[in-house]
Amino acid sequence: MISLQNYINGTFVSAVSGQTIDNVDPSTGKVFSLIPRSEQADVDAAVTAAEAAFPSWSNLSVEKRSEVLIRLADLIKSNSEALAQAETLDNGKPISLSRAVDIPRAEANIRFFATGILHFASEAHPNTEYINYTLRKPIGVVGCISPWNLPLYLFTWKIAPALAAGNCVVAKPSEITPYTAYLFSKLCAEAGLPAGVLNIVHGYGPEAGEAIVQHNGIKAISFTGGTATGAHIASVVAPKFKKMSLELGGKNANIIFNDCDFDEALSTTVRTSFANQGQICLCGSRLYVQSGIYEKFKAALIEKVSRIVPGNPSEDKTKMGALVSEPHLNKVLSFVELAKQEGGTVICGGERVVLEGENAGGYFMQPTIIEGLNASCRTNQEEIFGPVITLQPFETEEEVQVLANSTKYGLAASIWTTNVTVAHRLAGNLQTGIVWVNCWLERDLRTPFGGVKQSGVGREGGWEALRFFTEAQNVCISIPKK
Ligand code: NDP
Repeated sequence: MISLQNYINGTFVSAVSGQTIDNVDPSTGKVFSLIPRSEQADVDAAVTAAEAAFPSWSNLSVEKRSEVLIRLADLIKSNSEALAQAETLDNGKPISLSRAVDIPRAEANIRFFATGILHFASEAHPNTEYINYTLRKPIGVVGCISPWNLPLYLFTWKIAPALAAGNCVVAKPSEITPYTAYLFSKLCAEAGLPAGVLNIVHGYGPEAGEAIVQHNGIKAISFTGGTATGAHIASVVAPKFKKMSLELGGKNANIIFNDCDFDEALSTTVRTSFANQGQICLCGSRLYVQSGIYEKFKAALIEKVSRIVPGNPSEDKTKMGALVSEPHLNKVLSFVELAKQEGGTVICGGERVVLEGENAGGYFMQPTIIEGLNASCRTNQEEIFGPVITLQPFETEEEVQVLANSTKYGLAASIWTTNVTVAHRLAGNLQTGIVWVNCWLERDLRTPFGGVKQSGVGREGGWEALRFFTEAQNVCISIPKK
């Protein structure tokens, strides 16, 4: 049994209460590690350590901060196989995905902001009588809270810009997938990150997470997770006047026009719908196909998707692993039942999968396609966050624009067409933070990332993240005339 520890003030410690939480391998249903069940006292210790570290970390030259972070990125690279194995064990995702996406992206996040900070500049606004310039100052101690679907990827996406900008951090990974954050804390110590600069507190959201959000010593909160949790966090943080960045849920449209590159649209749609068992906030869960190719696309999609067989995530050949937990599997399966009650027809999948041998207790499910639902039903309005998509035909660009914009979410969308005019016009008319045209999940780390409507507040990525993690101060200097 592996015992994870908190990382506070550069040391590895258990929760003050001594309590632990069982951490389950979703591919077997068995407990494989224990994590600290942290509460207020642990967060207090983390904030005290971060406050003490802040003066020297924020006053270190950007070159020195960059050097430490680059060492950390190098260490992720040299430990990438162990981290990939840990991510798959903890989350249930296929090892090929951990190797190709999660861990390389975690490394890239650290390296990107380690070097980005060297180029980060602020504005000057001179006129004939005054010169105004803007200082960008680190905020102080900030809180970073991340979810379970892309554990180390999203954890580092937050803390890298926070640290690069000179802040000290108290961070909490999801208690469902804490393992790589723990291994990462070991690498921080090895990289020579000064004690207290990054503190990682494990535990339940409503306990350790809530203590971070409530803490008056924490001046900003960067949160990625569900919309309901985000709304709660906003209600706590707003009266305390903390800065806040919220990356929340999605119900993304994937729009396929008659004139698309059929094969490319088809093979990417399989990924868009089912990568990471559909547990990516950017997955397309509402598939709209224009009537001229609807039946052909549907048949080809069913043929491809029915060949995806969930399997042991640690095997190289596995393309679909386990869902992250039993409650989550049950939630996703309950949406399939709801879809049937709402008049939908399951045209592919729809069932739990029970594997043999050591994976018999794992949380596997068939990739599922549902047809015949209207746009306003719950299945088409609520985030399922699993391997379930709905399929609907459309006739015109105007019609699909209304359908795509018909949910409370506004995170991302994909458009497949060879008509440049349609692509530009529709992209501009979609109420989302991100639109991909003839591609999906291409992420240039310099671009703004985030959603509109109930998919979030604020943007991450590139300069947006460095601006979030700094306070702008205007300095105005008089230039008297002679
Ligand atoms: P949750 O909102 O349940 O949890 C997210 C994080 O918040 C976890 O670390 C959780 O801790 C913590 N948390 C829960 N309650 C509180 C609280 N009261 N105060 C502080 N922290 C708390 O989301 P999930 O982990 O279930 O993640 C899935 C969701 O994340 C989906 O809705 C998905 O769309 C969204 N997401 C959004 C992305 C985006 O960029 N927009 C990217 C990826 C996911 P714990 O788990 O330990 O309880």
